[in-house]
Amino acid sequence: MLIKLLNFLFPAICINCSTEDEFLCDNCLAQIKTTYPKPFIPCSFHKNPILRKAIHKFKYSFYKDLAKPLSKLLKPPRSAIIIPIPLHNKRLSFRGFNQSEELAKNLPNKSLNLLVRVKKTSSQAKLSKSERQKNIKNSFELNSKIELPPKSSTLILLDDVCTTFSTMNEAALTLKKNGYNIVHAMALAFSELKNHR
Ligand SMILES: [Zn+2]
Repeated sequence: MLIKLLNFLFPAICINCSTEDEFLCDNCLAQIKTTYPKPFIPCSFHKNPILRKAIHKFKYSFYKDLAKPLSKLLKPPRSAIIIPIPLHNKRLSFRGFNQSEELAKNLPNKSLNLLVRVKKTSSQAKLSKSERQKNIKNSFELNSKIELPPKSSTLILLDDVCTTFSTMNEAALTLKKNGYNIVHAMALAFSELKNHR
């Protein structure tokens, strides 16, 4: 009842063409070019203005419901376990949700919060590649509060956008140190690092 009322008061409107449907309608979703710059990364961030707009709203304007249409771009193998890149608690409480976790919820795969963020890092956005690596170092630990999956599992780390892979590599390193050897990286888009220094 409450959801019906909310949908009536705030109908889902496509962020690109304003059609009353989903926050990103099927028409606009179909215009996003999937070129697979990396195996599990379907899109180029800079070559897809609709995707760029959607990710921006998803991340910075808190359009949580964009996770559902955006997740349709991701095609992980069904048997893989999805590991969302965790946010630090402070950032999580500011944003209200972890965008990677929301994407994972909309996939048919099992997903697990296998990693926790133990270090509050400054935003990677304005840093160079080497600064990013330094910034993110030792940021993750294995989550001690959950039942661990078998070490032979195929794990796919999930983030919204990948730029230098510093975060992905650091997260993968933490998993590998703990005996998980089959680790892949998945994201909606690959973004070129613009401010090379
Ligand atoms: Zn649309």
